[in-house]
Formats: sequence, C-alpha cells, structure tokens
Amino acid sequence: MIYLDYNATTPLIPQARRAMIEAFDCLGNPSSVHTHGREARKLLEKAREQVADYFRLPTRNVTFTSGATEANNIIARGFEGNIFVSAVEHDSVLNIRSDATIIPVNNDGLVNLEALEELLNSTQAPVLVCVIAVNNETGVIQPIDDLLHLCNKYKAHLHVDAAQAIGKIELNWSLLSSFTISAHKFGGPKGIGALIINAPLHLNTLIKGGGQERGLRAGTENIIGAMGMGAALTAPQFNWETLLPLQEHLEKSLLNISPDAIIFSKAAQRVSNTTAIALPGVLSEVQLMHFDLNNISVSSGAACSSGKVKVSHVLKAMNVEDDVAKCALRISTGWNTTQDDINEFINAWTSLLEMKHQKDIKRVRYA
Ligand code: PMP
Repeated sequence: MIYLDYNATTPLIPQARRAMIEAFDCLGNPSSVHTHGREARKLLEKAREQVADYFRLPTRNVTFTSGATEANNIIARGFEGNIFVSAVEHDSVLNIRSDATIIPVNNDGLVNLEALEELLNSTQAPVLVCVIAVNNETGVIQPIDDLLHLCNKYKAHLHVDAAQAIGKIELNWSLLSSFTISAHKFGGPKGIGALIINAPLHLNTLIKGGGQERGLRAGTENIIGAMGMGAALTAPQFNWETLLPLQEHLEKSLLNISPDAIIFSKAAQRVSNTTAIALPGVLSEVQLMHFDLNNISVSSGAACSSGKVKVSHVLKAMNVEDDVAKCALRISTGWNTTQDDINEFINAWTSLLEMKHQKDIKRVRYA
C-alpha cells in the first residue's frame, strides 16, 4: 500500500509511540493533590514544556485541546467582537460564526490584503482575523507576516490555523495573537492538539466544568495524547524541503502525460508536500476508487467530512469552475514517501487516463 495522504494524517513516529506507552501506566488525575495526582501533573507539564519550547513560548500560553478543530472553535466562538475569516479556512474556522465576514482570496487562494485592509479600516475594534497558514487542500502558504503587519496597524488580533504548517514553514510564533496545532499532522497521535494564546483575548469559554487548563478547556486532560504530541515535537524534525524534488517530478510528469490537467495554486508559494490537481472529465470519486484499487491512498481535497466527497469550498473561493473542482485530487507526501511511490502513482495516473480515453472514444462512436 502506498500512502499519499499526509495532510489527512501522518504516521505515528516511534518517539511519540514510546512516550504514549510510558504514559499509559500513569494512574493519577493531574488535578488530584496526592502523590499519584502529582505524578500525572508532572507528565502533563513535561508535555506542555515540550510544546512551549518548540515554539519558544512560555508554558502558560499552551492549552491542550482534542485537536485543531476544538482549538479553532474555542477562539472563533469564544471571541467577543467582530471576526473576519478567509474564504479558504478549514471548516472548523469557516463555519463557526454566522456573523463572520469572509475575506476574499485570489485565484491562487491567497488572501486579498487590500480587501482585508478595507474591512479593517471600516470596522470597530475588537476584531479577530483568522487565516490558515498552510492550506490543507492546496498547500498554499499565506503571507502571515504581511497579515501581521496589517493587523498591528489596525490593532486587530490575528489567529492562525497552523495545523498544516508545523515543521514545514517557520512563523514568528510569538507575534501571533493565537494559533492552533494538531499532533497527528506531525507524527503525533490523533485526538490531541493545542491552542496557543499569546495575547490577552478575553474569550468566552466553551467547555465549562472543572476549570482545567486555566479555565479555558474543562475536563480531565489527555495525558497520553499530550505526551505523544510533546515527544513528536521534541524528536529530530523531518526536513519537508527534501520532498521538493518528488513534488517537481510528480507535477512535471502529470502535466506531460495530461496537458489539460490543472495544478492549483501553482504560481503561488506552496509547501513541498502538497499537490492539488484536477483531471477534467474524471470525477474525484472515480479517481479515488481507481487509485485505491491500485493500492494508493490519496484524497479529494478535504478529507475531514465523514467520507463525503463534495465540491471544495477552497477551490470555489479560488474561482475554479464546479466542473473542474469536481475532478480535483490531493496528493500529500511525507517522511516515508519514496521516488518509487511517486512513480507508482504516475503509472496509475497513466492507466486512469487510458481508461478515460477509451471511454471518450466510445462516447464519440455512439454519439
Ligand atoms: N485545520 C486544518 C488546516 C486541518 O488540516 C485540519 C485537519 N484536516 C484541522 C484544522 C482539524 O484538525 P483536527 O482533525 O485535529 O481537529
């Protein structure tokens, strides 16, 4: 089996697995004052320190959550004030507030800075601007420093969904008002993430209860997950840039074989592990099935909704025609991806194209 769906989730790295196994034997509840409780607290705080150290931030800024979805919800729902979200946000930001103002993007999926400036100029504080650092569907990298500059100019807060950014790009983490991460996107376990808050945001808390996580996220903490996430950030980091030759080889080959294929955001700066491509005339679900039959796991745009394949709101926002967007495929690579995997994918793409041609020929014959 060939796995080319790292943006959906990544394999667990051994260091994270080991740290989690160690944590399984931890009996106590970190909120208990007795020895067992204190031992559990020690593990949890060790994990918090590992996360904080990775971003060179104080531990008090780190709140553990069940993932990026929850972290984004805490911010977007909890923020009292006006909220602007880019049109290419993950659903966990885009569909949270009915009163959110949408920031348009250009045809490459980059935030329109002039439109944002106009919005900021005409809106009363407090304002929260939410922008995804690396798009999960196209891999496009947003100009976060320019956004920071704009937000500072208008005294707005900037929240960054960095779920797909960790290890792939560096950001001025301490200058962001807040950002979210999700462990399973960088070799950690699923079901754990963090919300990192650097600015005084005055949030309405969503999950009320025992007051854990400084009152921001009640509920007994997931120590095992936190240890796995901490270990994934402490382990020697994979250099995602090494995937660039594979990306270049893949894209060049696919365009050679099928000149009518469209690679989205090709003109913009993208991370080296993501290729979003459409093969007009072949629906995404047909492509997915074909690759699955060839033992290759890929995705059609976002995989986050229960196995449903729908036209991507990201591509729609980029003015991609529905007919083309319906034929989109996402290939996302990672540390176990080899040149052979990419060649296998290219072979399967070639056989898909042959099938398409045969169907087209039949259609012409019977027309
Ligand atoms: N934001 C982005 C950019 C993502 O790619 C994802 C995962 N697809 C999420 C948020 C949600 O993360 P999680 O599944 O950990 O809640």
